[in-house]
Amino acid sequence: MNQSTDHLSFENTEIAFRHSSNSDLKRAYWLFRVININFLVKIGPPMTNFAIKIGLPIKGLIKATIFKHFCGGETIRECENTIRSLHNGGVGTILDYSIEGEDDEQVFDNTCKEIIRTIKRAAKDKSIPITVFKITGIGRFSLLEKLDANITLAGAEQQEWQKVQDRVLAICEKAHSSGIPVMIDAEESWIQKTIDQLALAMMQRFNKEKAIVYNTYQLYRHDKLQSLKDDHAVAVKDGFILGVKLVRGAYMEKERKRAEEKGYPSPIQPDKQSADKDYDASLGYCTDHIKQIAIVAGSHNEESCRLLAELLDKKGIDHKNSHVYFSQLLGMSDNLSFNLANANYNVAKYVPYGPIKAVLPYLFRRAQENTAIAGQMSRELSLIVKEVKRRKSEVGSQK
Ligand SMILES: Cc1cc2nc3c(=O)[nH]c(=O)nc-3n(C[C@H](O)[C@H](O)[C@H](O)COP(=O)(O)OP(=O)(O)OC[C@H]3O[C@@H](n4cnc5c(N)ncnc54)[C@H](O)[C@@H]3O)c2cc1C
Repeated sequence: MNQSTDHLSFENTEIAFRHSSNSDLKRAYWLFRVININFLVKIGPPMTNFAIKIGLPIKGLIKATIFKHFCGGETIRECENTIRSLHNGGVGTILDYSIEGEDDEQVFDNTCKEIIRTIKRAAKDKSIPITVFKITGIGRFSLLEKLDANITLAGAEQQEWQKVQDRVLAICEKAHSSGIPVMIDAEESWIQKTIDQLALAMMQRFNKEKAIVYNTYQLYRHDKLQSLKDDHAVAVKDGFILGVKLVRGAYMEKERKRAEEKGYPSPIQPDKQSADKDYDASLGYCTDHIKQIAIVAGSHNEESCRLLAELLDKKGIDHKNSHVYFSQLLGMSDNLSFNLANANYNVAKYVPYGPIKAVLPYLFRRAQENTAIAGQMSRELSLIVKEVKRRKSEVGSQK
């Protein structure tokens, strides 16, 4: 039986940070203080890359600070403490092997094997309900770019493309035989058509009885609400469950810049409200068709999370329906994740892991997202400050 959403509060920092010790909070406080300084976040990435390139021993510092906050570890084994800690708070883990921007066939094969290891680990217990991968982790970006632009591939490139498809198939087959859902992340619009086609083909093959493969829809694109509806029509016609991860999208600046430079209309919505409107409309659309669409709502936006919670109640959908998951990133929006889990919703957090150097682009994106906007403290920092104050006053009242 569902509880009413009237009692759903995202302000409860006691629940949000129950898994964090005082020293965890202290570390997070200083980390977000530094990240809040726009100037440092701007110069941080080139300085870090340079320091690593010339062999300065800064990996230890990164591992103890920003990496520790946003990542589970360098290997699945190193993530076990995080997996357990999230599980204790009712939150699942989505192991995200974060290798980006490589272009070596051996690295692609190894990454494919590692993704299959995350599926095997997920199959062991319920603490990892979903898995994920990026196509650019197992295939060359410029190859995907050619395919998207309908450029004919040379002989060797055709073989290379076949290998990418084989890797995708191996991952989805493993997910299917293990009964573990696998999501395919969305990336830049100039490789996304190829990713979408692959994802749809995998869903047609593996989602007949259960949502195993999920594609990602970036609602900051003005055409993606329609793509969602078009794909749903295909699912109805061909009799499979559409797996859908809904996000706003992470590459806005890059998308706009490229469109301007190359002189084509930007695929991005004209403003934030339009992206919000389509995101929320897609939540409405998916919950209207919940038997045939399985959703993972990947968002840190409180209004969208609240809206989805309300839609479930309004439409009589059980909080624990396996077709609905809320999802956030490790180290961010714990107030949403843990309060939603406390209200008995399905919640899982991305837990990125991998060698420090390989996850740097991911870490830089997180730092960028958390800089101060117009001199304001970031949302994360203000929540940490609130919880530190609450703990102090609790100790004070016990004296
Ligand atoms: C679990 C999870 C999985 C994710 N997976 C992916 C993925 O596969 N691919 C991917 O691209 N991203 C992914 N993201 C990142 C996501 O797309 C967003 O960048 C991020 O979550 C911020 O959006 P939000 O919904 O949390 O909230 P908000 O903070 O409300 O929204 C910020 C977002 O709104 C959009 N936006 C901001 N200003 C404008 C504007 N002027 N015009 C149009 N749009 C605007 C941008 O997308 C921006 O990131 C994922 C996020 C999560 C939590």
